[in-house]
Amino acid sequence: MLSLAFICLSCFLNLVGSISKHPSVLVVSFDAFRYDFLNKSATPNLYALSQIGVRADYIRNIFPTKTFPNHFSIGTGVYAEDHGVLANHVFYNNRSHGYSYDLFHYNDDVVPIWTLNEKAGQGRHSGSMMWPGGEFAYQGVTPTHAVRYDQSFDWNKRVDVAISWFLNETAPANLVMLYFEEPDFIGHRHGVDDPLFRDEIRHCDRTAKYLQDQLEAHNLHDKVNVFLLSDHGMVSVAQDRIIDLNKFANFSRCDVVGTSPVMQISALASLDPFTKRCKFSWNVKETGNSKIKSANGENLHTKTVSLHLRVPNELNLQYFS
Ligand SMILES: [Zn+2]
Repeated sequence: MLSLAFICLSCFLNLVGSISKHPSVLVVSFDAFRYDFLNKSATPNLYALSQIGVRADYIRNIFPTKTFPNHFSIGTGVYAEDHGVLANHVFYNNRSHGYSYDLFHYNDDVVPIWTLNEKAGQGRHSGSMMWPGGEFAYQGVTPTHAVRYDQSFDWNKRVDVAISWFLNETAPANLVMLYFEEPDFIGHRHGVDDPLFRDEIRHCDRTAKYLQDQLEAHNLHDKVNVFLLSDHGMVSVAQDRIIDLNKFANFSRCDVVGTSPVMQISALASLDPFTKRCKFSWNVKETGNSKIKSANGENLHTKTVSLHLRVPNELNLQYFS
């Protein structure tokens, strides 16, 4: 799926007088904010920003279309097959890995931009406000400023703290990554056509306005380059586009890790090879996240990923014809 709203404000302004002596950048992500959620009536503030800044028609997310892989691709500039964050939850080395240091350190040669900024020295400092993977050390270097993800943390306060990092007297940031988990969460629960989803889009819009106001209040609006973007889009899935695997197979005693568009199903490690083949069963809870998209794309993607020679062996991804 193509995404997203993508706006660059004041990219070419004179940065002389910035709190940091280096050009300053703020990257803001609204999770799953699809490119066409931005319009004049639903998001007047974002729309107004798009009129005074630069707006791309879309940016193309990577596959898998999940939050952690895409945010780490934004941070590193490489695909998941290189940075190794293949999903929000991944099964390898006989266990499931969720959000963790391990998940973001499959390939220690890949270093995100906020770490490269710190390593460049000469007064460069980075900040991560809940950006996926942002608070970890890479090659031994952590961002000067970092807050781990906390859903209860008020959005306007996230903005306040992020702006305070640019103004820090001893270690002013010249790069800050700022993350908001909506409208993804609401969208998964209610779909993109629900009134609650539209309310959340307005919430994002108000937050963008608050951010703009606070930048101006602190005289940073002409000193900080602001990128507003997202990690992927989102669409509602119709019932007739869902494949119920119970109709096709009888699985039992298996581990299921992840949600759409890619799930990992493996036999429990305790089962012997023969039993693995005989007792698979599918027992996915009927939650909003566990819907399996039908579609042409699913088989295509499965085949492509499974056959890819660079998929690590630890993932146990194999292609069965
Ligand atoms: Zn996401």
